Amino acid sequence: MKKLYGVIGHPIAHSMSPVMHNDAFTALELPGYYHAFNIKPEDLEAAIKGMKAIGIAGFNVTIPHKSTIIPLLDEIAPLAEAIGAVNTVILKDGKWIGFNTDGHGFMSALKQDWKSDLQKEKVLLVGAGGAAKAIYYTLASEGVLSIDICNRTLERGEHLAAGCPFPAETNALSLLEAESSLDQYTLIIQTTSIGMSPKVKDTPLSLNKMKPGTFVSDIIYNPFKTTFLQQAQEKGALIQNGLGMFVYQGALAFEKWTGLTPDTERMRKIVIKQLGGYDVNR
Ligand code: NAP
Repeated sequence: MKKLYGVIGHPIAHSMSPVMHNDAFTALELPGYYHAFNIKPEDLEAAIKGMKAIGIAGFNVTIPHKSTIIPLLDEIAPLAEAIGAVNTVILKDGKWIGFNTDGHGFMSALKQDWKSDLQKEKVLLVGAGGAAKAIYYTLASEGVLSIDICNRTLERGEHLAAGCPFPAETNALSLLEAESSLDQYTLIIQTTSIGMSPKVKDTPLSLNKMKPGTFVSDIIYNPFKTTFLQQAQEKGALIQNGLGMFVYQGALAFEKWTGLTPDTERMRKIVIKQLGGYDVNR
């Protein structure tokens, strides 16, 4: 009998996770099936209990449940606890255990598309939400020492680094302050939802002061090339979209559930085919 996996979110209809994971089960000839569950916030508690009762073997968590699920799980891995967000849940000895694979997913993609030695980079994180926090903590855990944050809501940027168990020097900036000092940074990571479909012309900040040769990553992958990435490329940046992060966070979840490593190139290709997109950085 097939084991059942899934993703919970609201809304969830456009999730690329089912097609990606179901193809990985097929490729590895594993008896698994992955389904997208649309769970309203008010139904989350009942859903988590019900998922155990019907024997779901593991699942992903997306907006808006990444933080609110924490008190409903039996254990939380230390990194997910520090970040305050869970995107992957496994069932072990009858207990739901929550993990966060977003930061490591981002890091794997960055290493694949750019370089692995990041410790001396001067990093600017644009945004201070859940994804930014996962990326900040993972960068700091890998010894990146200079990570500034700019965000529309300044206090959220100021609070993001507090409680991080790994050392890093951080200035919290307004978007305008960051715009005027962009030439300091070698790596700019755009983590806000600005530029996502359908508001594809919007960008979080002007790149006028950015140096050519800067690596610019935007964790959005729908559209495949945001206006922010397009402008960065026109100014001589090396660019990366969020597809690699999405694929690797999924691959890490798949490994936790099955103990097997899926083919990430195949996963990338199936999402590209499904969305009718293309590789922006290859
Ligand atoms: P979140 O926790 O809601 O944070 C949203 C961020 O965007 C905050 O910094 C927020 O600023 C900013 N923002 C939103 N609307 C804005 C506006 N109109 N003007 C200025 N700033 C605005 O969301 P999240 O979970 O971090 O996700 C953020 C993005 O990352 C989404 O597009 C999501 O799809 C993407 N993501 C991609 C992956 C992947 O695998 N590629 C994984 C996770 C997330 P304030 O603090 O001022 O509200």
